[in-house]
Amino acid sequence: MNECKRCLFTDDFAEIGEQQCEYCDIHDSLEAQSNPKEIGVMINKIKSSKSKKKYNCIMGISGGLDSSTLLYIAVKHWNLRPLVIHFDNGWNNEQAESNMKNLIETLGIDAIIYKVNADEYDQLNLSFLLSGTPDCDIPNDIAMTKLMYETAHKYKIKYILNGHCFRTEGSTPKGWTYMDAKYIKSVYEKFTNKKLINYPLFTFFDQIFYAIMGIKNLRPFHYMTIKERRKLEDEMKQFIGWKDYGGKHCENVYTEFIGSYVLPKYFNINKSIVYLSAQVRSQQLTKKQAKEQLKNKAQFDKSIDLSN
Ligand SMILES: [Zn+2]
Repeated sequence: MNECKRCLFTDDFAEIGEQQCEYCDIHDSLEAQSNPKEIGVMINKIKSSKSKKKYNCIMGISGGLDSSTLLYIAVKHWNLRPLVIHFDNGWNNEQAESNMKNLIETLGIDAIIYKVNADEYDQLNLSFLLSGTPDCDIPNDIAMTKLMYETAHKYKIKYILNGHCFRTEGSTPKGWTYMDAKYIKSVYEKFTNKKLINYPLFTFFDQIFYAIMGIKNLRPFHYMTIKERRKLEDEMKQFIGWKDYGGKHCENVYTEFIGSYVLPKYFNINKSIVYLSAQVRSQQLTKKQAKEQLKNKAQFDKSIDLSN
C-alpha cells in the first residue's frame, strides 16, 4: 500500500500524488481561503439578517465538544440569537446529554429536541447493519441535516452554523459513505418490507428547495486558529462545569459503537485515521505521533448497555 508523504492516508481509499494525497490538497485549499477577518464579516451578515426576528441563526447540538463550544461562542462572544435543535435518536450518552442541557439552560436559549420514532429508527439502523455497508451511521447524519433545514425554513432563519472544522476533523474518504435519500429508503425497504414513514429524509428535492430559499451553511471554525479555539473550549467547559464523557463521537453510544467496533472489525476502517491525518496536516501532531495514536485503536466500551 502506498502512503501519502504528508498524512496517514493510503491509496486503498485516497488518490496519492507525488507530494501528497487529494485530501491534503483539499486541506491546503481550505487553509488558503481561511482569512480570520471573515469571522467579523460573517457575524455582521448574520446580525443584519432579519434583525427584528427572535432568532438570527440556527445550530444543531449533539452534546459533543465542537457543537457545544460553537454554541457558547455564538452567544457569549458574538451576541447572536441562535435557535438550537437536537436530534435525539435514543442513543445519547447520559453525561453528554447532561452537559448539553446544562449549557442550553445556562445560556438561556430556546432549543427544540426532536425525538425519533424509536421502533422505525432502530429498524433502519438494523437494516444498515444487515446490508453489510460501511456507512451504517448515515441515518443519523441525514436526519439531522433535514431537521436543520426544515426548522430554519419554518422560522425564516437564513444561516446554519456548523461546528465542523477541516483542521481537527478532516474529510471522510468518499468511498466510506454515501448520503442519499433513495439509498436509505431502499436499504430500509429491502430488510423490513415496509415503507419509511416517520424518519426525516433529506431528499434531492430538499437540497434544491433550501438552496433556492437561500439558507446558508456556515463553518466559523474554519476561520479560527486552533489555539484560539482551545482557549474558548476551556472557557465553555468552565462556564457550565463540563464533565468529560469519553473520546470523539462518544456523545452518542450508537455512533461510538459503529466507529470503534463495527467499522474496524468488519470493514477494516479506523475512522481515527481521518481525525489524526487532519491534525497532522494542521501541525497539531507529527506524523510519527499520529501513527503511534492510530496503533492504540479506539476500543468500544463493552460495559455500555446497548439493550435499550
Ligand atoms: Zn495526505
